[in-house]
Amino acid sequence: MTVAVETEAPTATAAPALLELVDLHVGYGAITALKGIDLTVRQGEVVALLGANGAGKSTTLRTISGLLQPVSGEVRYGGERIDGVPAHQVVSLGIGHSPEGRRVFADMTVLENLRMGAYRFGKADPADLDRVFALFPRLAERRRQAAGTLSGGEQQMLAMGRALMGRPDLLLLDEPSMGLAPIIVAQLFDIIREINTQGTTVLLVEQNAAQALALADRAYVLETGTITVHGPATDLLHDPRIREAYLGG
Ligand code: ATP
Repeated sequence: MTVAVETEAPTATAAPALLELVDLHVGYGAITALKGIDLTVRQGEVVALLGANGAGKSTTLRTISGLLQPVSGEVRYGGERIDGVPAHQVVSLGIGHSPEGRRVFADMTVLENLRMGAYRFGKADPADLDRVFALFPRLAERRRQAAGTLSGGEQQMLAMGRALMGRPDLLLLDEPSMGLAPIIVAQLFDIIREINTQGTTVLLVEQNAAQALALADRAYVLETGTITVHGPATDLLHDPRIREAYLGG
């Protein structure tokens, strides 16, 4: 059963839906990872998708990106169905994905990694590079360095920067805080806020529920393939069930 927490914020309801997942079922062979989830991200929002290990968060993002095909249900983007659209075309529609584990090209330089993110345009636009370097000055300093030699936090910045080079309207972020020191996580979350302020809608997958709820407008909780709770992030922050299960009481 899905429990809606309070009412939606009036500003959030005013914006049109950019992304809609409708009764989405996704599996890996005999394993059903998503058991009919419904989720909406409105234009301009930061929406957090929370849940424990194995809940199905990465599966959700990989299905939106076209890396996985749903068994049934729909992925709608800007009102059009995109389930079945191959991943490279999904990028061209304006959906950027910073994957779990970063997946930077270790032997390539920072600059080469960023240029890979611009492949939908054929060639990187210098204005996009300038924007990424303004958001992540560390990447500018290390532009000639092999990505494999970067720290974990810098690799996370690179994964996000690479996704931004495709000039996405919707940015999917898979656990940007994973394995990073709290001070680095705080910096990254400030940058995610800035990216959103600049006009990019964000769907943020996180196990770090406190940080994610502090940043997000709304949030969904996924438990073994089912959305169990959703609502405004501030309401979830104060919900006793969420506090108990995800915020350490
Ligand atoms: P995590 O933070 O650990 O990645 P998650 O919430 O992102 O967790 P998913 O990676 O989406 O969870 O996994 C959801 C379910 O699907 C889990 O039961 C997982 O074991 C299973 N699963 C994920 N990837 C595969 C795969 N390639 N083959 C088979 N089962 C998989």
